[in-house]
Amino acid sequence: MNIVGRFAPSPSGRMHLGNIYAALMSYASVKCRGGKWLLRIEDLDRSRCKREYAEQIIDDLCWLGLVPDLGASILADDSAYYQSNRDDIYIKYFEQLRQQGLLYECFCRRNELNVASAPHASDGHVVYGGKCRLLSYEQKEALSRERKPCWRMRMPDVDDVFVDGKYGVQHENLAKDRGDFIVRRADGNFSYNLAVVVDDALMGVTEVVRGCDLLTVSHEQRFIYSNIGYEAPHYCHFPLLLANSGSRLSKRDHSLAMDVLRDRFTPEELIGTIAWCVNIQPTKQPMSVCEFVSAFDWQKIPQKDIVVNWD
Ligand code: GLU
Repeated sequence: MNIVGRFAPSPSGRMHLGNIYAALMSYASVKCRGGKWLLRIEDLDRSRCKREYAEQIIDDLCWLGLVPDLGASILADDSAYYQSNRDDIYIKYFEQLRQQGLLYECFCRRNELNVASAPHASDGHVVYGGKCRLLSYEQKEALSRERKPCWRMRMPDVDDVFVDGKYGVQHENLAKDRGDFIVRRADGNFSYNLAVVVDDALMGVTEVVRGCDLLTVSHEQRFIYSNIGYEAPHYCHFPLLLANSGSRLSKRDHSLAMDVLRDRFTPEELIGTIAWCVNIQPTKQPMSVCEFVSAFDWQKIPQKDIVVNWD
């Protein structure tokens, strides 16, 4: 089987330590088994994402020595790997799900705005109560005179079970634990969940490696896979790197942004320190990408999130 992994950043600013750690993990996980690594730019949220940030991501990855085998690149016509260019594809799958009777219109406004970005666990998860599930034709007519609806997936009352490569057996009830989630916003934009599944499926991604704050959302994504006729990939989540404050690293931690890191460290120093943070090696000894890949072993990676004491 061809192993294909991916890194799927959102170009909403300069990358930071947490992003390059994610890139490195997804890269090493496929490369240590001879797989291919794909770069996809997740710029669905047009208000926050910029082309120049995407180009900077490609440059930062190159500087680190992480060169994608497929996907966004400075060399080729890579427009197919930018989600903002893929609406024609998402609409096809959206229509397919709609015709299967799996989607319904929802006129409630809460939670709608951020669905174009990945719903990280620290953002909190609210199970939608299903208020709009049973609206009559007349009620929908009346409500649509006031506002446009978004579209939600009707989640069945069944358990979904899968084995995560790092966190083991994952078990949730789709209706009760996950709830009906948004696949398309009222303004027509598709949600992260729909786009990520359609893209991973069509791009032949066989393994999804990403932070453990996206572990539970894999249930929603597996449900989409099963309904568009693709097999779900293997999931392997990794622990998060946390700031001293205990919160997830974000673009706000400017001292860990790539421009600062590139001034202060060599790529080998950065990779060596990340390797030390996640138990790949016992010291911060500088390491090349190749050495990281050779030393990489999922067994060594801890499950618990890691506070980064960078100095
Ligand atoms: N664009 C998402 C993020 O940056 C990627 C999530 C995923 O890997 O599925 O959080």
